[in-house]
Amino acid sequence: MYDLIIVGGGPSGASAGRAAGKRGLLTLLIEKEHFPRYKPCGGALSSYGLSCLDFKLPENIIERNIPKIRVHFRGSFVEGIKEPDLALLISRKVFDNFLLEKAREAGIEVHTGEKVLDCIEKDDYVEVRTTDNTHLGRFVLIAEGSGGTLKHKVRSRDKRTEYGLGLVSEIPDEDGAIRNRPPDAINIHFGIAQGGYGWVFPHAGYYSAGIVGTTQHLEHPKKVLLDFLQKNGLSGEFPVHSHIIPTGGIKRKTINSRLLLSGDAAGFVDAFSGEGISYAIRSGQLAAEAVADIVMYSLKLSSLKTYESSCRQEFGNYLAGSLKMEKIMHRFPETSFKLAVNNREILDKYLDEVITGRNYKTYIRWLLLNFCLAEPVSRIKSLTLEGTDKD
Ligand SMILES: Cc1cc2nc3c(=O)[nH]c(=O)nc-3n(C[C@H](O)[C@H](O)[C@H](O)COP(=O)(O)OP(=O)(O)OC[C@H]3O[C@@H](n4cnc5c(N)ncnc54)[C@H](O)[C@@H]3O)c2cc1C
Repeated sequence: MYDLIIVGGGPSGASAGRAAGKRGLLTLLIEKEHFPRYKPCGGALSSYGLSCLDFKLPENIIERNIPKIRVHFRGSFVEGIKEPDLALLISRKVFDNFLLEKAREAGIEVHTGEKVLDCIEKDDYVEVRTTDNTHLGRFVLIAEGSGGTLKHKVRSRDKRTEYGLGLVSEIPDEDGAIRNRPPDAINIHFGIAQGGYGWVFPHAGYYSAGIVGTTQHLEHPKKVLLDFLQKNGLSGEFPVHSHIIPTGGIKRKTINSRLLLSGDAAGFVDAFSGEGISYAIRSGQLAAEAVADIVMYSLKLSSLKTYESSCRQEFGNYLAGSLKMEKIMHRFPETSFKLAVNNREILDKYLDEVITGRNYKTYIRWLLLNFCLAEPVSRIKSLTLEGTDKD
């Protein structure tokens, strides 16, 4: 009988595994793929995500440190800088493999190439049926990501409005060419996919380029991506990978009596930016902590609620704010993005309040006060262009 069985070895499962091992829980992590494995992702890790790790990320895992962001809309752009780093660029294949090694290092058992087929909750334990065996655990953390159906043991299926779609392609190029190709920045392009955006990230030896959008608005997503690549001079015969991104915020149910959800399985993704790695890591750690407290101090099963409350406390307001922000910006795309690329203050404040301060609430209030309620027309007229894509 394990104290904790973790389904999935992505950032959430691996971080939970490490935290559980460090707390002395007898833990089994089951991952269906053999690592290292490919994962469709832009590979941008925020400094908040980095701060959640309880170890230093080795230099060889970090492909690039990027301090600059360029936000484009219909031929115009605005740039912002966040020193020392706005984001780190990592390859998910390498990063996820490293996190799983860090989980192993904490003394947990890891089975790869074994798929969990079912989790059956009993009074005193959970029966976990896999392609290879049946395992018993006092608690099970489902960290299966956005795919899979095990999460529906805890929460209902998402509505079409509660998830988005991401498509990504990796386009190889010489490192020198990537560094010299301006702009050497995180590039975000609004206005190319309704209810979403396109990105180009300059990794080591390749560009990650992709689009995200809300499922209900993103028609012919592959065509949108191919057009976007072409416009950015990145077209060619490159594989395209797609994946679901849950964006409904923090309201979903994340616990049953002995089951917990974390990361994408719980829906912990910033609905505006699509950032999910950080919340996957942090929620995995919090889930392991909640289980460890119950096991170590013989607490009641109902104490599992502390997992939900600590997630709410740590990033609940932030994710709820991201949903509001997504609704405002994508409901009025013309006005919002035109305003954003024509006024550097909007981006600078976003970098300060949201990226550094992790506070959407203050930012949204500031936006509304300064641009929606206070003489919007005269303000719009007084704006100056930062630059155009032709520069
Ligand atoms: C196109 C795209 C771009 C993105 N870009 C970014 C970005 O730049 N920055 C960012 O922060 N976020 C980004 N995200 C979001 C980010 O990828 C996710 O939030 C993050 O991967 C969630 O981690 P996780 O551990 O919850 O799930 P995952 O990383 O999906 O890991 C789940 C693991 O569970 C395993 N698994 C699934 N089912 C089973 C089963 N039945 N049995 C055993 N194992 C199983 C899977 O093989 C997988 O390894 C992006 C997402 C997409 C789709």
